Amino acid sequence: MLKKRKKYLLIIIPFIIVSIIYLNYNNITLYLKSITTGYNIKAIKVFEENNLENKINRYCETLDEAIIQNKYNPKFINIYYYVNYQDIDNFIDLVNKLATIGYNANDINAIFANINPKNIPIIIKNSYDKNLGEYIKLDYFDEEKLNRYINFSNNKEKLSYSIFYVQNKTYNAKDIVTFVNANLDKEYYSNDIILTDEESNKINVLVNKYYQLESTFVPKDLTPIESIYARNDSQLLQKEAATAFNQMCSDAKLENIKLYSGSAYRSYEYQSKIYNEYIKKDGLAQAETYSARPGYSEHQLGLAVDIMNSNWSYVNKDDIEYSWLITNAHKYGFILRYPENKEYITGYMFEPWHYRYLGIELATKVYNSGLTYDEYKARY
Ligand SMILES: [Zn+2]
Repeated sequence: MLKKRKKYLLIIIPFIIVSIIYLNYNNITLYLKSITTGYNIKAIKVFEENNLENKINRYCETLDEAIIQNKYNPKFINIYYYVNYQDIDNFIDLVNKLATIGYNANDINAIFANINPKNIPIIIKNSYDKNLGEYIKLDYFDEEKLNRYINFSNNKEKLSYSIFYVQNKTYNAKDIVTFVNANLDKEYYSNDIILTDEESNKINVLVNKYYQLESTFVPKDLTPIESIYARNDSQLLQKEAATAFNQMCSDAKLENIKLYSGSAYRSYEYQSKIYNEYIKKDGLAQAETYSARPGYSEHQLGLAVDIMNSNWSYVNKDDIEYSWLITNAHKYGFILRYPENKEYITGYMFEPWHYRYLGIELATKVYNSGLTYDEYKARY
């Protein structure tokens, strides 16, 4: 009897074991795959159901989490697969939103690497910006201005207030950050920044249609330019700039290039007078292309000089004086401040005669950068 029962068990037990193994075969292989790949069983199932077994070869936490959290969108499988996982709240939701707008995995990785998560909603509430993935990596990118960069990049702000507005111009990532940093997405004279006397006394101070000098500001050590290099004896510059200008004129003279200061320091009151005269003569819109409003002129700094040629007229593009200056002025600390084709940046017409003193080191850097001083300051 006992013997018969043992025999019976010997048959039934292996049968049960085989049945269990058979019935759970799929689960066991899933379990083994999960252990070896790192993916959750749920993810392995999704891969198998969607012919995505190639994803198993490399573990990706973003993809795994998207599936575990039931937030994965089959359209974005490849995005999850290449997005580096971040341990932040609602990470998968943010990835889904960014992917829905149109950002690819590279963009999304750049966004999480460069943008504080609290600012990501700014990106999400705007439409897709094809330049964003690139410009957020620039070291002069300023996260505070994120919304402005997106608007500028998406052509919502187009310098359209400027008479130098260039239609249909495309901007690259560097332009976008530079121009917004330089406030070019805002109207001229909208910045309301008045420089303190301390700031205004620095050789590298930027004065343009966004940065204004106090009406009372007078530079500290105005010095007359040597009379042989000046139209009259009221040509003043800050001492350092005057010395550099004299030296430049003297060296130019050795090469038969005659340079003279036609207009250097101009007080606030004097700028006011000539600006109003220009308006009377040419009308406001025209006058604004070549004359600064009082308080917005570099001439009030005592660091700008309008240079005359040997005929006592302001240097022109075709003059030998222009060719000499354009290659040599930076060696004395001067840069051409309002270059040709940069009118939409400087807000002034091309002025081949107007030079700004910055000191040799800075002038050389600006010169080598090929940028206007407005752009240079927006980057460095
Ligand atoms: Zn000038």
